[in-house]
Amino acid sequence: MIEYYEKKIQQLNTLIEITSIINSTLDPVLIRKKVIEAATELLNSEAGSLLLVDRSTEELFFEVAIGAKGEKLKTIKLKKGFGIAGWVVEHGEPVISNDVTSDTRFFKGVDEISGFKTKNMVCVPVKTKERIIGALEVINSNQGSFEFDDMVILYAFANQVAIAIENVQLYQESLTDGLTGLYHHKYFELRLKEETARSKRYKYPLTLALIDIDFFKKVNDTCGHLAGDMVLRGLAKILKDSTRFIDIVARYGGEEFAVILPYVSYEGALDIGERLRKTIEDTSFEGIKITISIGIGYSDGENMDFDYKELIKFSDRALYNAKNNGRNRVEILVLQ
Ligand code: GH3
Ligand code: MG
Ligand code: MG
Repeated sequence: MIEYYEKKIQQLNTLIEITSIINSTLDPVLIRKKVIEAATELLNSEAGSLLLVDRSTEELFFEVAIGAKGEKLKTIKLKKGFGIAGWVVEHGEPVISNDVTSDTRFFKGVDEISGFKTKNMVCVPVKTKERIIGALEVINSNQGSFEFDDMVILYAFANQVAIAIENVQLYQESLTDGLTGLYHHKYFELRLKEETARSKRYKYPLTLALIDIDFFKKVNDTCGHLAGDMVLRGLAKILKDSTRFIDIVARYGGEEFAVILPYVSYEGALDIGERLRKTIEDTSFEGIKITISIGIGYSDGENMDFDYKELIKFSDRALYNAKNNGRNRVEILVLQ
């Protein structure tokens, strides 16, 4: 009996500790990783995963999975109601299964990809007040069996997880533009201010590229505003995919985008600009072709006096030159 209480106390301590950790950060990647680590630790299990509902397709995808083959699961999408996790999300109820092979809801496809041989599982819904946003599950391949108590503790944890995830989502939404998912102008300005200060302090170069679609009005006029929106989304995705993790990509305004590129050389900045220009020229957005003009403001970090507005001014002027010199081109101006 003592052992039982000791185990419970330890679980509760872990629960309190991890709840405070996940509620004190707004970093979505860190939160999700911590959630899985805590879930597997709480139930002393071999592996675990957090599945979230994709709001547009209603499919469940593996947001994070740890354990030997976790990475491979990221490619899997479960259709609505599919697998035990799908059932949990659809019904909003937890499931314990100590022999998944005899559970008709169990979907073998995941094990086939991960190489993990699931024997037993606890899966609980992750619910906010309004909706079910996903499922949290832990699995074992050969050890022990799960009990009702295990499910209760995971369920309690999942409630905290839901709050933390929802907070982060709301925070992210408040920083981003609804159409493209990129950061909006206000956040861009904040980050540019920070990056300018850092560049001056450590004397490293800073690049700001402003990107404007050429004759975008024509796209709207000939293909319609919705097609125009699709092009904006497509362009945003290319910008995001072709830049580094540390670069900041924002929707500057209507059909204008901004990319902050810390620590890139003059030649590097020109290369990136040219590569982007060429990629867009070669891309067809569902049959619609566009070109972009790029204005780059560049500081080598040696000038200690410049302020972020000056960098914007130089990028803006470079963009004006790109438009004036025939569009579909890259121009660069160096802050002295
Ligand atoms: P230029 O080569 O000189 O940049 O020509 P342009 O036609 O791109 O320039 P202009 O600034 O005259 O037009 C920008 C157009 O972008 C006008 C506006 O309708 C369109 N636009 C701005 N925001 C959006 C949006 O969210 N969706 C769509 N579909 N169009 C937008
Ligand atoms: Mg414009
Ligand atoms: Mg334009």
